[in-house]
Amino acid sequence: MLWCMDDLLTIGEFSTRCGLSVKKLRSYGAVGVLVPYAVDDVSGYRYYAAAQLGQARTIALLRQARIPLAEIADFLREPTGERIALWQSQLESELAQRRRALEAVRHELAVDATASLPERIEIRRTATTMTNSIASAVTGRGLVRETNQDAVLAEGILYAVADGLGPGGELASGLALETLRTAFAADPSSDGLVRAGRRANEAIWQRASADPELTGMGSTLTALAVLAEDRGGPCIVHIGDSRLYRFREGVLEQLTEDHTVVGAMLRSGELNEEQAGAHPHRHLLTRALGIGPEVATDLIAVECRTGDRLLICTDGLFNDLAAEAISVTLQDAETPAAAAGQLVALAETAGGHDNVGVVVVDID
Ligand code: MN
Repeated sequence: MLWCMDDLLTIGEFSTRCGLSVKKLRSYGAVGVLVPYAVDDVSGYRYYAAAQLGQARTIALLRQARIPLAEIADFLREPTGERIALWQSQLESELAQRRRALEAVRHELAVDATASLPERIEIRRTATTMTNSIASAVTGRGLVRETNQDAVLAEGILYAVADGLGPGGELASGLALETLRTAFAADPSSDGLVRAGRRANEAIWQRASADPELTGMGSTLTALAVLAEDRGGPCIVHIGDSRLYRFREGVLEQLTEDHTVVGAMLRSGELNEEQAGAHPHRHLLTRALGIGPEVATDLIAVECRTGDRLLICTDGLFNDLAAEAISVTLQDAETPAAAAGQLVALAETAGGHDNVGVVVVDID
C-alpha cells in the first residue's frame, strides 16, 4: 500500500504538472532517466513523487537545449556548473562549424554557379585495360528504390563499390568513391589504399557533421587495388556488407566477411547460411563509413592469379540472386563488361529490391 498519496502523482498528473508528455516520461524511464518513484505491487501503476518535479523541469530544459539523454543521465547523477559550461562551449563550436560550412557553400556557389551533381544515369559503365587486369563497373537502380545510392568505380588499378545508407546515402557513396579515387591516385600503394579509405570516412563524417539533415548518412566500401607485388600486391580495404568474391576454376569464393550483426552470428555458429540469408536483421551493419570520425580500416591481401575473375558487389546483388546464378554468369560471360551487365540485369529479373553495384575484374 502507498502510505501518502498526497506526495505521489500518477503519470498523467505528473505529466500535466511538469510539461513532459506521458510518452516522453515512459521513454525516459526506460533508459533510467526520471524513473517513477513508486510502483503499486498489485496494479502495477507507477507513481512519481512531487519532489521529482524539479528534476523533470531540468530534463525538459536540457532536452530543449538538445542534450542527448545519456548525457542528461550523467548530469543528474553529478550536476555541476562545469558540465553546463562544457555544453555551452560545445554548442558555440558546433554553431561556428555550421556557419563555416554554410559559408563554404556560399563560396562554392560564387566560384561556379553552374556547379551541380552530375546527372545520375541508370546504367553506368567504365571499362579500363591494364597490363594485369581488365574490368567493368555497372550499377542499376533496381525496380523498387526511387534513387540509386550505390556507386561503382573502375579506374586504373582501383576497383570499388559503395552502398550509401541513411539520409543522403547517394551523396555518401559518391563522396566515398570520389575521395578514395583522389587519395589513392596521390599514393597508389597498399598504405595509400588504407589512407584513402580513412579519408573517405572523414569526408562523409565531416559532411554529415556539418548538416543536421544528413545525420546518419554513411556508406559501405569495398575497394580493390591490383597492385604489383613490389607495391604490396593485390589488396582491399573493406567496410560494411558489400563483398569481394573470387571465381576460380568454376568455384565462387567469398573473400570478405560481412560487417553485420548477422555475419558475426554466422561466424560464431549461432546461425547457418540459410537462416542468415532470411534473418530480419541482416541489414544491421557493425561497421560503415561516415558513422564516426574514425573507422577500423583493415588491409586484406587478395591472393589472385592469371585467369581469376574477381567480383565486387553490393548486397543488392547477392540478396536477390543465388550464388549459383552468380557462378553461372561469371563462368559463361566472355568479358567483364558482359558479366557485370548480365549480373545487374539478372538481379532486376529476380526482384530488383535494392540498388545493385557490380565490378567484374579479370586478372590477366
Ligand atoms: Mn544495398
